[in-house]
Formats: sequence, structure tokens, C-alpha cells
Amino acid sequence: MNVISTTPSLSRGRRNLAFLVFLSSALCPPSSASAEEPYVRVAILQDAESARVTVEGPARLTDLDSGAGLADWPDLKWKLVESAGPGIKIGEAGFPSRAVLLTPAKNPVFRVNSRAYRGALILRRSSAGKLTVVNRLPLEEYLVGALTSETSPKWPMEALKAHAVVSRTMVAHRIWIRKNESFDVTADTSTHLYYGKAAERGRTRQAVEETQGQVLAYQGELFSATFHANCGGHTESAAELWQTKKEVEPLAGVVDPNCRDLRHYRWKMFLSHAEMARFLEPAARGAGELQGLEVLDRNASGRVREIRITGTEGEAVLTGRRLRELLGANRLRSLKFTVTPFVAGFSFSGFGWGHGVGFCQWGAYGMARRGKKMDEILSFYFPGAQRRKLPGLPGFVS
Ligand SMILES: [Zn+2]
Repeated sequence: MNVISTTPSLSRGRRNLAFLVFLSSALCPPSSASAEEPYVRVAILQDAESARVTVEGPARLTDLDSGAGLADWPDLKWKLVESAGPGIKIGEAGFPSRAVLLTPAKNPVFRVNSRAYRGALILRRSSAGKLTVVNRLPLEEYLVGALTSETSPKWPMEALKAHAVVSRTMVAHRIWIRKNESFDVTADTSTHLYYGKAAERGRTRQAVEETQGQVLAYQGELFSATFHANCGGHTESAAELWQTKKEVEPLAGVVDPNCRDLRHYRWKMFLSHAEMARFLEPAARGAGELQGLEVLDRNASGRVREIRITGTEGEAVLTGRRLRELLGANRLRSLKFTVTPFVAGFSFSGFGWGHGVGFCQWGAYGMARRGKKMDEILSFYFPGAQRRKLPGLPGFVS
């Protein structure tokens, strides 16, 4: 797989990507990075009562929608930010705008509560009258922090590079599909872990820089590439997990021997009858005292599709996904499990950690340890996808 520029035959994807660049650059302050580099908006606080913000050095406040200047500060030290009336209050100063952009003028590092971030800050009054805080920064800068939050900088470079391409694809796709939303990603595992500037490390930066602007495309378009810790031997079909009608070839699922016996490959968990009853209560009301759990159906990757809960008064059938929501994704680590009843409770034994779609982090680690290159890793986990340059980034050839 080689890096190639987009061609006229990829016109639809090209228009999408071109719009993505337009969208991002339209929001860029002129002082930040390349005018064409996409920006990502990371929600770091949602519906918060307030936040403490610090900018070392001068900072400018503008209305996010109109771009009109609202205030200039020589510096901002631990100012309390909260929603007030129709707008936002910063320290003692109130602003009627529903969303404002706070841009450090010189030093691009600022703090929200005690954590350091780069770029600029969007402060928005939420519909619930609370505060949403979004860090807006160039995509490549974001990836350096995000990749270190998700991996170890000690990993083989080819695995880190492959992960950088996958993360960039996932985030670029979200920037595109969420263009009318107030943020692109959250800072937790629901999209991509991001601990801000503190998470930056040298080797992770190297992996991001060596793959600068490179994404995966299928039939010339971005797709929702994603990743998980360990697939337990078979990656999951995206159509199966997200219940979509159409299967996208690179996300259809593959047999994966690469993560076998590496970290998070196997897990065991025991829950007492009382614990199970408490977790399942929202879905099994009226079923009486819990007596049994029975897997009814598994999909092609071996994951549980449906499970029956039997109680003294009745029964309920749940999807595997709902069961994982109820028990907790870190407790029921995957849907590739078997369950055995005991007198004291239920014993679960399973494979893998995570939803299982796309890139298996520990499988990629295993491949790189055996000398596989980035493109071999990407081709294995995303069959049919090609590595391309995202338009608007340095090195892109139109
Ligand atoms: Zn795997």
C-alpha cells in the first residue's frame, strides 16, 4: 500500500474532504498553524456547573459565530467560567454570546481546571443552561496527545504509526459527519481518550509526524475506522455492532491470531446473585428472583447477540450490547464470553476487551513485534482500505 493523492475518479470523496478543509479553515484563527489544516473540537467538559480557566499571557475573546471581538486580557489567572443569563460569564465580566472563542495570543498552552491543553477554547452555554468546554486545536497536535493517551510510547514504531493513521481517520470522519454539532469528539473512551498536553511524548509525536495527514479511505472516502484494546481472536463487524444495514468491507471483521495471549486476551469475572440482580434490575423488572442466564444467539465473530435472563416470576431477553451496558463495559469486558451459574452467583469467562470493531491494538503490537510494517498491519485490520493523504495538510498533492 502506497500513499497516493486523490484522483478525479474519487470526486465524491474529494468534495467531502474539500468541504471538511473548508469547514475547518473557516473557523481557524489566522495565527494558528497552516490555514488549511483541519481543526478538531474536543469536548473536555459537558454540562458542567463551572470551570476554572488559566491563560499564561495575553488572551482574546471573540464571538464564535460572528468573529466579533469581545475582550482582550493581558492574562487570565484561574478565572471562574460559568453560564449566566443568555451567555457566558468569565470572572466578573458577562458576555451575551451563547458561544465564545478564547484564544491565547502568544503561549498556546492554557489550563482548564488543573489540566493543560494546547490551542484555543470554545465556551458554550448548553441548552440545559450549563457550560460546555471544548478544546479546539489542529488535528495533528490533537493526535499527538490522543495517541499517547491510548497507547504506550514504548510500543514498536510501526504499531504506533498504524494507530496514528487509524486515529486520524476516525477523527477526520467525525469532523465531517459532525460538522453541524458543537464538538467532534469527547475526551473519554466513548470516542478517543485525550488527556491534553500532559500526554504528549516524543515517540508518539514521531509516529504522528511520520504519517502526517495520512488517513485510510475505502472507495475514495473516509469511513468510521475505530479501534479497541484486544479483539479476543476475531474482530467484530461494524454492521453487527452498530446495527447498520450496509457492511463496509474494511469493517466486516477478520480472524485475528496476532493478539492471542497478549494483554487483555482473556478475562474472568464473577458476580454474586445480589450484584447481578442490582445490575439487571432496569431490564428485568417483574422477573422475580434471578435464576439463570442463557446465551441464545452468537454472531459470526463468536460474540453474544442475545441472552435470556430467567427469574422466579418470568424472563427477559436482552441483546448482548444491552447486557454490556447494564453490567458495565469494564466489568463485562467483551461480548465474546461464556457464563456458568454457581450457587453463589455467575462466573463469566471471555476473550478480548472492547467492542472489537476495526483495529486491534494488542494485535497490532504483536504484528509489529514480529517485524510487520505499518501497511501490513493496516491491510490486515482494514481489508480493501487504502492509505491516502488528507487534503489540506502539508504534503498533499491535489
Ligand atoms: Zn485481536
